[in-house]
Amino acid sequence: MNYHSTRGKSSNISSAAAILQGLAPDGGLYVPEEFPELFLEKEEFLSMTTYEIFQQVLSALLPDIPTEDIRQLLSRGYDHKFETEDLVPLKQVGDRYVLELYHGPTNAFKDMALSLLPHLVTKSRELEKVEEELLIITATSGDTGKAALVGFSDVPHTKIMVFYPEEGVSSLQKIQMLTQEGENVFVCAVKGNFDDAQRGVKEIFAAIESGELQLPDQLSSANSINIGRLAPQVAYYFKAYRDLVQQDVISYGELVDFVVPTGNFGNILAGYFAKKMGLPVGTLVCASNKNDVLTEFLTTGTYNRLREFYKTNSPSMDILVASNLERLLWMLADRPEEVAGYMKQLAEDGKYTVSQQMMDVINQDFFSSSCLDEEALAIIKEVWEKENYLIDPHTGVAWKAANDYQQSRASAHPLVVLSTASPYKFPEAMLEAFGLEDPEDGFQAMDLLEQHTGVAIPKTLLELKHKKMLHNDLIDPKEIISYVNTKVGGK
Ligand SMILES: *Cc1c(COP(=O)(O)O)cnc(C)c1O
Repeated sequence: MNYHSTRGKSSNISSAAAILQGLAPDGGLYVPEEFPELFLEKEEFLSMTTYEIFQQVLSALLPDIPTEDIRQLLSRGYDHKFETEDLVPLKQVGDRYVLELYHGPTNAFKDMALSLLPHLVTKSRELEKVEEELLIITATSGDTGKAALVGFSDVPHTKIMVFYPEEGVSSLQKIQMLTQEGENVFVCAVKGNFDDAQRGVKEIFAAIESGELQLPDQLSSANSINIGRLAPQVAYYFKAYRDLVQQDVISYGELVDFVVPTGNFGNILAGYFAKKMGLPVGTLVCASNKNDVLTEFLTTGTYNRLREFYKTNSPSMDILVASNLERLLWMLADRPEEVAGYMKQLAEDGKYTVSQQMMDVINQDFFSSSCLDEEALAIIKEVWEKENYLIDPHTGVAWKAANDYQQSRASAHPLVVLSTASPYKFPEAMLEAFGLEDPEDGFQAMDLLEQHTGVAIPKTLLELKHKKMLHNDLIDPKEIISYVNTKVGGK
């Protein structure tokens, strides 16, 4: 099975080549030409370890990487880096289930993919016989940056460069990035918001493609446009499903609904991939914060990025251009040129409207609703008081969408909420939820939250206290290409 571009112009390439390229030369995203069925026999499925599930899913989606290698890569990527061997524990909270995706080295779900991506990239480099070093460039709304820095730090033959919006990340997220060690890491703040940073990164790719920028390294991306990031995310949907069967919540084959706090549409798209591969997924609930561009799209069929950008207390979802939506459009389109047309309209007019036919399919598989900051905070407090369970603001947004979904439909399916970050990454917002004063120091804020709830601060965040600030670059988005040039010695 090969990969080709959503814009239809780039020819078929192997999954290893797609991982190395990140973005297709025609500006599209790589998608599998067909979805491998992965319907496992019940006995076999139930007896698998979490690693074995991941291995099966990755082998199905990345068929040119030998199975034995995948096993090794998983071990290199995940062993001893997660708080639990189960990687992503599933917990019952009231009548819902929560898939905790944040027990990795940087306390957000991005670790699931970014702990593994450097190893997938290294293996792909070997398979594709690439001689050049790889330069990984990434825009981040806060969590991808740190997870990518940790993942790639001192990985041979790679450099990692992260751009984050100067004012768009939490204090802890900033500290996490600015203290990152490693000979091959670059961290740079960009004036503006996440979309400005993401657009800047896309301009680098375009400048390379046009020859305007020449670098000694091969360029790739750690953003969720990279297929190597999506594949591990597909795996935990299977894992959650296995747990539900094992715990006798469902019988094998019954449908399960998933609620996903959504920004760049990567996490929820992975759920759609899982469904395409045969996992009994019912509805995928797309939860937006006040930047509700996706909720508007999924309910009206019009995607309109010409709108105000809000800074919210769930910053990892503050995005107006959700890149991975393009992959969904491609999967639902009738004609291969259709998606390129929508993307052209998006670039030129700032919006597009999809066909009614496409909306009919979307309505079958998706539900969406949005949540304001104050609603998310009220929910955090309520879930804590009722269930004695602490959720972060992104998961709060998802919880609200789960409420809306259950009120609007009498769904009989069990509901799994994907929990994407540790509450301790966003201590200021958490304190506000509990009506406690913010001490204006990230570490003190964490301490206060711990005193108030008795939930322990993750070790990885505590350790930051003793680290030095190592980075202080700040640029205008216009300077992004010259920044890359200066730092990595292009011509
Ligand atoms: C990245 C992120 C999201 C959004 O995920 P997408 O794949 O971009 O939709 C949600 N919550 C947290 C905590 C994140 O870091």
